[in-house]
Amino acid sequence: MNANEVQNTRHAIVIGAGLAGSAACHRLTLRGWHVTLIERHHDIAQEASGNAAGIYMPVLSRDDNRTSQLARSAYRFALQCWEQLGGIGTAFSGAACGVLQVPRDAQRVALQQKFARQANFPADYAQWLDQAAASEKAGVTVNSGGWWFPQGGWVHPYSLCQALLKACGDRLETRFGHAVSTLTQADGNWQVCDQLGAVIASAPVVIFANGMSALTFSQAAGLPLTAHRGQVTLLAEQLAPPSKIVLCGDGYLTPATQGFCSVGASYDAFDDAQLRSDSQHENLMRLKLLLPDWQVDPASVPLAGRVGFRCVATDRLPLVGALPDVMKQPDRATMHGEPQLKDMPRLPGLYGLLGYASRGLIWAPLAAELLAATLNDEALPIASELAAALDPARFQLKVLRQHKKAHS
Ligand SMILES: Cc1cc2nc3c(=O)[nH]c(=O)nc-3n(C[C@H](O)[C@H](O)[C@H](O)COP(=O)(O)OP(=O)(O)OC[C@H]3O[C@@H](n4cnc5c(N)ncnc54)[C@H](O)[C@@H]3O)c2cc1C
Repeated sequence: MNANEVQNTRHAIVIGAGLAGSAACHRLTLRGWHVTLIERHHDIAQEASGNAAGIYMPVLSRDDNRTSQLARSAYRFALQCWEQLGGIGTAFSGAACGVLQVPRDAQRVALQQKFARQANFPADYAQWLDQAAASEKAGVTVNSGGWWFPQGGWVHPYSLCQALLKACGDRLETRFGHAVSTLTQADGNWQVCDQLGAVIASAPVVIFANGMSALTFSQAAGLPLTAHRGQVTLLAEQLAPPSKIVLCGDGYLTPATQGFCSVGASYDAFDDAQLRSDSQHENLMRLKLLLPDWQVDPASVPLAGRVGFRCVATDRLPLVGALPDVMKQPDRATMHGEPQLKDMPRLPGLYGLLGYASRGLIWAPLAAELLAATLNDEALPIASELAAALDPARFQLKVLRQHKKAHS
């Protein structure tokens, strides 16, 4: 099916009602698409998007690499999108309270200070604060100066998904409590079936927004995604340092919401779905490094929090767009010179919004916009070189280029 035919039907199935899927529904219905959202739980945001608070902020790098450029576009687009939804703390829970990011050690502080003198970011984007100013901003002593992101903050992902889906209006149809098991193609439509083979929905376009579970489908099984366990500790407000902003170093601390601060998040090598005291200890020790005056003994803190699994690509960037057909080779007759993304065979009508790793809050809006603009045959919201860095076929392209080089 070509772009024109897709545009005429304008019906997409989105699998997964987390941050990725909710943002996709929002950006597509805004364009007049009809969307069927399928979720295996009876409620939205029950897996990676189920934390009490997620933090959001820009990503800086001294060489302003591709990840920083993409994250800058994503951050700015997220702020704009949330404002249009009605604003943080109004349309959904969270606070644009600012984020202070403190480097890990003295050597990194010196490097960042030097970078700050050269970088000259707009003040509403990023400012370098010395230790005294940073501590004043935080309301507690922090161990060094750091980057201050005045528009950063925290968001309750569940309530953001809820606000996004509410904004879809009657162009959105939901099928909750249905686990998709297989996808088959018939007459230009994808039939999305449950474990018993019953059709849940059918449409010309299907979007995988189901995190690691995408790999259970033959059409997406080859994508280079891995699960990374993370544990967030819920620290009772009275035990926590009294900070009104988000503090971030190796780990992070959010201001209290409903009596608890979120301290996170561990990055673990094991895949235990239960809370673990060693992960909690790690979270609290990292907080102690950030806040030298915080006197609470981590061993005395009751075990509380939540475990989740991040879906992470090998290059740590999201996968946004048409899925590659790994069973097919590019057509050599139409390929000129070095293979390009456009030469990579695709699975018609199948798309991915996957691999948001630890930055689902900022990746979700821009990735959804990028995919919706592609499906609607519009100009892309970011430069095509940046969009190419997110293309799900980039991994196959790299292999193909290496293969060609080795055999030339
Ligand atoms: C511990 C931890 C801390 C984090 N902290 C932050 C943070 O501070 N800031 C930040 O921006 N990000 C953070 N992240 C990352 C962020 O949570 C994720 O990037 C984001 O939630 C991913 O959203 P998603 O929609 O891709 O995945 P999910 O939220 O996992 O959604 C996928 C959905 O698909 C559904 N599904 C799967 N298979 C099927 C099927 N076969 N049929 C039907 N439905 C299906 C699932 O039930 C699920 O609801 C953190 C993640 C973790 C684990």
